[in-house]
Amino acid sequence: MASSKRILVTGGAGFLGSHLCERLLGEGNEVLCVDNFFTGTKANIAHLLDNPYFEFMRHDVTFPLYVEVDEIFNLACPASPIHYQYDPVQTTKTSVHGAINMLGLAKRVKATIFQASTSEVYGDPTVHPQPESYRGNVNPIGVRACYDEGKRCAETLFFDYHRQHKLKIKVARIFNTYGPRMHLNDGRVVSNFIVQALKNEPITIYGKGSQTRSFCYVSDLIEAIVRVMATPPGFTGPINIGSSVEFTIRELALAVIRLTGSKSKLVQRKLPADDPLQRQPDIALAKRMLKWKPTVRLEEGLKHTIAYFDQVLSTRRPEASLARRINGGR
Ligand code: NAD
Ligand code: UDP
Repeated sequence: MASSKRILVTGGAGFLGSHLCERLLGEGNEVLCVDNFFTGTKANIAHLLDNPYFEFMRHDVTFPLYVEVDEIFNLACPASPIHYQYDPVQTTKTSVHGAINMLGLAKRVKATIFQASTSEVYGDPTVHPQPESYRGNVNPIGVRACYDEGKRCAETLFFDYHRQHKLKIKVARIFNTYGPRMHLNDGRVVSNFIVQALKNEPITIYGKGSQTRSFCYVSDLIEAIVRVMATPPGFTGPINIGSSVEFTIRELALAVIRLTGSKSKLVQRKLPADDPLQRQPDIALAKRMLKWKPTVRLEEGLKHTIAYFDQVLSTRRPEASLARRINGGR
C-alpha cells in the first residue's frame, strides 16, 4: 500500500469534497477537511466524524490557514450559479484570495496542490468540443464573471506560483458533475429536475432547452481527480475532466421524468444571462495521461441520484417517497 499522507481538502463538506474526503480516507490517508459551510453541510461529512483519521475545521479560505500537510485539494468555492451569484464579491474572493492563501500554504510546507478549476473558464465556447488549448469566450462583466474570471485568475496564480516558486501544481477543469450529496436547493440542473420530478412539480427548462451539457457521475470524477494528483511532478495540467456524451437540457428532463415515473410537465423559464449554449469536453488528454474515461452512463448515474434525493425528501415528507410509491405505499 502507498504510504499514508496528511491531506487537506478545502470545500470538503461540499458535494465533490465530501466524496473526495471519503475516497482519500479509504486509501489510508489522514484528511483535514476545511469548509465554511456556505454551500456544504454537516450532513455530508457526518459519517466521517468518528474516523480517527478525519478532522474537520470550520474556516473560510479567504483567510490564511496555518496547518502542516503533504497535499492540498483546493475545492472551496460555490459551484452552482444561484449560489455563486448570491454574493458575487465573496465568490471572486474565495477563488482569488482562497487560491493565494492555499498556494502560500503549499509553498511553505512544500505540498503538491490541486485546483478544482472549471469548464466555465471556456465561457460560452465558440470551439466545440473544448480542448485545453482553447482560451475561452468569457464575458468579464457579466453575472457569471465572478465565478468564471475568479477561476481563471486562480489558474493564473497557480501557474505563476509554479513558474516563480517551482510549486508542484495540478489544475483540472471539471465539467458538469452530478450525484448524491448535491444540495437539495443546489439550483443546478440535475438536482433541480430530480427534485421537481419527485415532487411532481413543473420541470423548469431555461430557454428552449436546446442548450447542451455533458454530465459526469461523481464516482468517475473522483477517480479522475485522484489520478490527476498522482501524475508525475512535471505534469501541471490544465486537464479537462468530464463526460464527452452530450445531451440537450430537454433530453435530460425527459430522462428524469421517465426514470422517476413523474407526472411533472415541462415549463419554460427565461434563459439566464450568459448561459453557455453548448458544452462538451475534449478528454483526449485525460484518456492518455490518466488512463481514464467515464464509466457510469447517464441513466445509471441518474438512478443513484434519484434514489438519494428520494431518501432526502422522504425523511422530510415521508408520504412523498418514490420508493414508497413504487412499493405500493409500504
Ligand atoms: P459545492 O458548493 O457543493 O462545494 C463547495 C464547498 O466549498 C462547499 O462545501 C462550501 O461550503 C465550500 N466553500 C465555499 N466558499 C468557501 C470559503 N470561502 N471557505 C471555505 N469553504 C468554502 O460544489 P461542488 O460541486 O462540490 O464543487 C466543488 C469544487 O469543484 C468547486 O471549486 C467548483 O468550482 C468545482 N467544480 C465543480 C463542478 C461540478 O459540476 N460539480 C464543475 C466545475 C468545477
Ligand atoms: N437549467 C435549466 N433548468 C434548471 C436549472 C438549469 O434549464 O432548473 C439549465 C441552465 O440554464 C443551463 C443548464 O441547465 O443551460 C445547466 O445549468 P447548471 O446550473 O446545472 O450548470 P452550468 O453548466 O450552467 O454551470
